[in-house]
Amino acid sequence: MTVQTATIHGKPIGDEHSFSVLNPATGTEAGRAPNMGPAELDAAIAAAKAAFPAWSARSDQELQAACAAVTAQIEAHAEELAHILTLEQGKPLNGLGSRWELGGTVAWAGYTTGLSLSPKILQDNSDGRVELHRKPLGVVGSITPWNFPVMIAIWHVMPALRTGNTVVIKPSPLTPLATLRLVEIMNEVLPPGVLNVVTGDDRAFNIGAAMSAHPDIRKIVFTGSCATGQKVMRAAAETMKRLTLELGGNDAGIVLSDADPQAIAEGLFWGAFINNGQTCAAMKRLYVHESIHDDVCEALVAYARNIPVGNGMDEGSVLGPVQNRMQFEKLSRLVKDARERGRVLLGGEPGEGLFFPPTIVAGLRNGDPLVDEEQFGPALPIIKYRTVDEAVDLANDSANGLGGSVWSSDTAAAKAVASRMQCGSVWINKHGAIQPNAPFGGVKASGLGVEFAEEGLQEYTDIQVVFA
Ligand code: NAD
Repeated sequence: MTVQTATIHGKPIGDEHSFSVLNPATGTEAGRAPNMGPAELDAAIAAAKAAFPAWSARSDQELQAACAAVTAQIEAHAEELAHILTLEQGKPLNGLGSRWELGGTVAWAGYTTGLSLSPKILQDNSDGRVELHRKPLGVVGSITPWNFPVMIAIWHVMPALRTGNTVVIKPSPLTPLATLRLVEIMNEVLPPGVLNVVTGDDRAFNIGAAMSAHPDIRKIVFTGSCATGQKVMRAAAETMKRLTLELGGNDAGIVLSDADPQAIAEGLFWGAFINNGQTCAAMKRLYVHESIHDDVCEALVAYARNIPVGNGMDEGSVLGPVQNRMQFEKLSRLVKDARERGRVLLGGEPGEGLFFPPTIVAGLRNGDPLVDEEQFGPALPIIKYRTVDEAVDLANDSANGLGGSVWSSDTAAAKAVASRMQCGSVWINKHGAIQPNAPFGGVKASGLGVEFAEEGLQEYTDIQVVFA
């Protein structure tokens, strides 16, 4: 199979040594990616560094025009990228799968293009004029995970470019192919060196670790697990890098006693099972008031039962396989344990290959591994509660704080409960609905900083205050 080359300084690189990328639906090779070492990483960073002075000297309007051209490129190649994404990631072309991810990617790219950070006048009087300016940082290193590889790449890269930074991006070894192609097409409309990509299998050489410590990278934007995020933070201390860390979540949903089980079943399902549960801000624990517990379980199971699971290339599939073996084994372990502690209402047994059916387990409690650990897969634990105070305490009893949700027929009551949840985003009667004009980030162990909107853009700049 041919190797999807990387792009450094606008040139294709690296089909000499390559590694295999597997299609999780079939176990066969989806493609190959360059297996790069320290020399290629240094070359990519040097290219980004060399491109920075000219790129950062562009006017705001010029940067905006360049980002608009990039957005148009992505839109023109969306279907091609969606196919690559399904082959390597497993998510279906349809439903909330690859085409949906590409739609989001284009929407985010377009919205970010339209944002602008104008200077602020803090004071202008007889004592003097004080202006706040936002300056680009330099080379930004982006490290992405395997669950939404294309959309997250754009969440990192577009605000960096829009504010005048140059970028080296490193995708997950499990899903590098769509990102390599994405960077290739973006380079057709960008000057050489402004956006570079490096890939490797993380065996002999861990590129992400080297990026986190590299003296010529000024900022790391990282999306991935809490454990790796902590390593990035440690490695970045020496060079005082700016950091945005979007890490793991163990989001809770709380269903209040006045919710309508039939009306919320579909929203509950997608809040938990979007991308097969392999979503940072998916609902990973569901707390239901005892008075409607059984009705909610029944309505949710009735909805989940009819979801077609299969090879993502099949236009009829709505959920695909789990993305990789390690994740599949973690999920299998957690569900096996939950089978012994609770009551399996749906699924519960691993399928063929990396397929795992939507699984719902009732009768669990905080302290049970499926409740406490981030399962990052299609298995939802349901926990019965008696009082709202108890539900809030149980929901907040987690090191993580990414998202949360409250489900109720009374919006004001739901908002009052929502305000007590310790998390960066909280939704009423839905879960995980993010949008480019609203800052998104975690509290507690779920991360540092935010992405999206003006607040997200600011994270790619340093403040310079001019006292005139
Ligand atoms: P991961 O931490 O295993 O890997 C993420 C990236 O880090 C990969 O590109 C990997 O190659 C790289 N990496 C590995 N070792 C590194 C090191 N020492 N230094 C720097 N980089 C290194 O995460 P994953 O399994 O790919 O993704 C799943 C996790 O990501 C889940 O915990 C999920 O909740 C989280 N996530 C968070 C968000 C968010 O916005 N908060 C979004 C998506 C995923």
